[in-house]
Amino acid sequence: MSKRVVVIGGGVIGTACAYYLNQSGWDVAIVEQKTIGSGASHANCGLVCPSHVLPLAGPGVMGKTLKAMISPNSPFSIKPRFDPTLWSWMLKFAGHCNQQDMLTAGRAIQSLLNASRQLYDELFATESLDVEWQTRGLLFPFLTRKAMDHYAHTDDLLGEHFGMRAIRYDGDAVSQLEPALKPGLAGGWHYEGDAHLRPDKLMSSWRSLLQSRGVVMHEQSEFRGFASLNQHANRAITSSGEIEADQFLVTTGAWTPLLNQQLGCKILIQPGKGYSMTMPRPAKCPAIPLIFEEHRVAVTPMESGYRLGSIMEFAGYDASINPRRLDMLRTGAAHYLQEPTAEPVIEQWAGWRPMTPDSLPIIDRTPAFDNVMIASGHNMLGLSMATGTGQLVADLLSQRTPRIDPVPFALLRR
Ligand SMILES: Cc1cc2nc3c(=O)[nH]c(=O)nc-3n(C[C@H](O)[C@H](O)[C@H](O)COP(=O)(O)OP(=O)(O)OC[C@H]3O[C@@H](n4cnc5c(N)ncnc54)[C@H](O)[C@@H]3O)c2cc1C
Repeated sequence: MSKRVVVIGGGVIGTACAYYLNQSGWDVAIVEQKTIGSGASHANCGLVCPSHVLPLAGPGVMGKTLKAMISPNSPFSIKPRFDPTLWSWMLKFAGHCNQQDMLTAGRAIQSLLNASRQLYDELFATESLDVEWQTRGLLFPFLTRKAMDHYAHTDDLLGEHFGMRAIRYDGDAVSQLEPALKPGLAGGWHYEGDAHLRPDKLMSSWRSLLQSRGVVMHEQSEFRGFASLNQHANRAITSSGEIEADQFLVTTGAWTPLLNQQLGCKILIQPGKGYSMTMPRPAKCPAIPLIFEEHRVAVTPMESGYRLGSIMEFAGYDASINPRRLDMLRTGAAHYLQEPTAEPVIEQWAGWRPMTPDSLPIIDRTPAFDNVMIASGHNMLGLSMATGTGQLVADLLSQRTPRIDPVPFALLRR
């Protein structure tokens, strides 16, 4: 008889874990407080980007963070408030703002990103999932020569330490590569290995596939704790009843620290609110996804739509949508694109990225139980890391030698 696992949290991480566990012969149920894919995995930018190996914490970042705190128009903001968990997070974050930690974290991030990128190719080659998967890379265009040259240092660092380089396009060569850009830009850097998809379609078609394979979905069902004996969880207690299993996996993203008591450990994750707006494709729609680093705006051209996204607000569990932030997406994109937006706006959205101080997810067992694992805290890259995480979790729970080293993702790391 196959063993039973309950996955708590139906975002992209929980869904990917459910898929690889199901593939490994587990009997899987998902418990989700709302609907599958309704959290941060719903309307994110859809980029699957192995190029994004660098963590948020790096040399000089703390100074920029403090500056951003007092600037109302910064795309990165921290709402000043008395919240001891935020200040513990910031202190830890500050401790990681150095070259050595940045490179160490980068290597661990890269292991998950590379595995995930390859697994996505395999997933879409073997399963019929309608997700608008496109492999056109990711382009970073720059307005000014100064910013273009400054990025050359990042490219050198990525080449030297991670074996990854972009192709450089100077001057109008960048608008020849991507004709939706305005002429006259300083240039751009193209990472050819990146890809993109439509996140809501990924979530809905993966959900249907899992259901067709016998995965049970308990939606509108909030996890409240475990019924346990001698540090062994027997049942997940939810708002709609109790579910028995051999193993439990917690993939509740930004909500995970709200379960600290039930999990018997201290999870240091902050919700990092990001915004997106989705529209029809403009007439001059880009073909390649774009990131405008100078204005911190991402552009995702999907087959069935077009999305602007970004912003990082540390404002606690405040789900409100600030219209000024959405305006920053529009005005940022207008510097670079001939047609930065289209009407009507179909969806204005905000989601909570599960931010850890060192940018690494937690993929580990909780010390309080012998059969509860956590896979949360995928920061700005949960979509990009989902398949690798799913495979790692399935390897660990199935007691196979993991294909990715789990050590950097330990709960009790520095
Ligand atoms: C604007 C924006 C753009 C982004 N762009 C990208 C991108 O281009 N590429 C990329 O890789 N990443 C991107 N991200 C990050 C990515 O969206 C997240 O890292 C990822 O979605 C996290 O997935 P998750 O499954 O951990 O969390 P979620 O998708 O938030 O899922 C967690 C789920 O747990 C459920 N839950 C919580 N508590 C309970 C409970 N007690 N009981 C039951 N269920 C519970 C929630 O309802 C939720 O559905 C972006 C994020 C934002 C906000």
